[in-house]
Parts: sequence; structure tokens; C-alpha cells
Amino acid sequence: MTPMGDKRLSSDTNTLSVSVWRGDGAGGKFEIFQVPSQESQTILDVVVWIQQKIDASLAYRYACRVGMCGSCAMTVNGRARWTCRTHVTKVLRHADDVLEIAPLNHLPVVKDLATDMTGFFDKWRDAKGYFAGQRTRAEPAARVDPASPARKAVDAGIECIGCGVCYASCDVVAWNPDYLGPAALNRAWTLVNDVRDTQQQARVAAISNDAGCHSCHTLGSCTERCPKSLAPTASIAGLKRLNGKAPQGALE
Ligand code: SF4
Repeated sequence: MTPMGDKRLSSDTNTLSVSVWRGDGAGGKFEIFQVPSQESQTILDVVVWIQQKIDASLAYRYACRVGMCGSCAMTVNGRARWTCRTHVTKVLRHADDVLEIAPLNHLPVVKDLATDMTGFFDKWRDAKGYFAGQRTRAEPAARVDPASPARKAVDAGIECIGCGVCYASCDVVAWNPDYLGPAALNRAWTLVNDVRDTQQQARVAAISNDAGCHSCHTLGSCTERCPKSLAPTASIAGLKRLNGKAPQGALE
């Protein structure tokens, strides 16, 4: 099979017509590929098939294929999704049977479906989204009481896999590229509630500026689309309630 040069659709119900973005940061275009339809086929299955059977130069990213690594997110029929856990039947537009796969929004394209995630993770750093404890490795690990309210407040948020779906779905990121975004703020929220962490004052300052939590318009796209069913909107609301103050129990 070879890629078709136009957007004609296949009339064969056993074949998918797949429109795939090809190009780099300087520009590109969609290219149509014909892919055999299979039972329980995921979007990532389709992309891998194209790369292995039609065009080995197709660039994309994945690692675990089981919804843990967060590296395979792409825009599928206009919406950011994790592709390894998204079945073709879930997203196919049955009216015209087009499957369109593109890179994530709001991130520079390296090539084809692979985006540069540097800016996304730089914002985790800028939100002080990393743990800084007091103990040395020679000391026993500090324990957080699993039943404490602070620990329970972050039960969901710590399950983030860093896929970028929320970031690519956030309109505020589109309007304000400096906005830290839902994933970095969700991460900050988990650490704000970590009684062992020593940089609470600095973290609250980092998420309280113009790029921080108060820029969120509570549109809710992040929560609606997070493939792990997390609620970054609620995490951001928690940060807003801090109102510039370090949380009680912080070790500073
Ligand atoms: Fe992905 Fe959800 Fe984490 Fe955002 S909050 S990076 S959508 S897992």
C-alpha cells in the first residue's frame, strides 16, 4: 500500500482512510494512508502500522503502550487523546469515516506527530513542581500519613502521567503561552499538600504570578479530557484558595 496523494475516502469498510500530519515546525500538510481495519484497534496501532508497513520515516512517540508513560498523546479528530488507549471505533466519524491524526496543540512540532515537550516540562520546574525534602539519603524516608487530609487531597493528582493532553486542550495556554497550564499546576497542588516539602513559600510565589493559577478561567477542558480522569481544575481551585499564603504545615 502507498499513501494516496489526495483526501479521497476508501469505500472498503475493511480499510481505514487515515489522514496524518506530516511536516516539521516550518510547516507541513496532511497525507492520506489506507490502513486495514482490525478488531480492538487503537489509534497507536494505526500509527505503528503506517510506520512499519508504509512509511518508515513517520515520526511519533510512544513507550509503554499501556497508558502509563504518557508519551503517545496526539490530536485525534480534533481532540487531544492518549492514543494507546483510544480505540478507533471510539473516535471514528461514522458519517464520513475519516480518521485524522495530528501532533498535540500548543507545543512545537519536531517532526510529523512528535512534539517538543520541553516547554511543557519547563513549566513544571517553573511551578516548583519537584520535591525538596530535608532528610539526607542516610536517614530513613519521611513518612506521610496516608489517612491525613493533606494526603487525601492529592490522592488523584499524584496519578498524573505527564501526557500533555490537558495542556494541549487548554484555551488559556493558547491565549497566554506563559501560562503554566493545568498539569504543572496540578503537580504544584500535590506538593503544596506535602508536609515534608521545604519550598512551600517559593512554590506559592511561583504559582501566584500572572502565569499562575489565577489566570485559569475554569473552562474545564483539562478535567473533561484528562485520560486518567484527574481534575486539574479542582487542583487549580485549591491553589487559588491559598491566596498567596503558604499552606499550614509547610516546613519553611
Ligand atoms: Fe495528562 Fe491528566 Fe496529567 Fe494532564 S493531568 S498531563 S491530562 S494525566
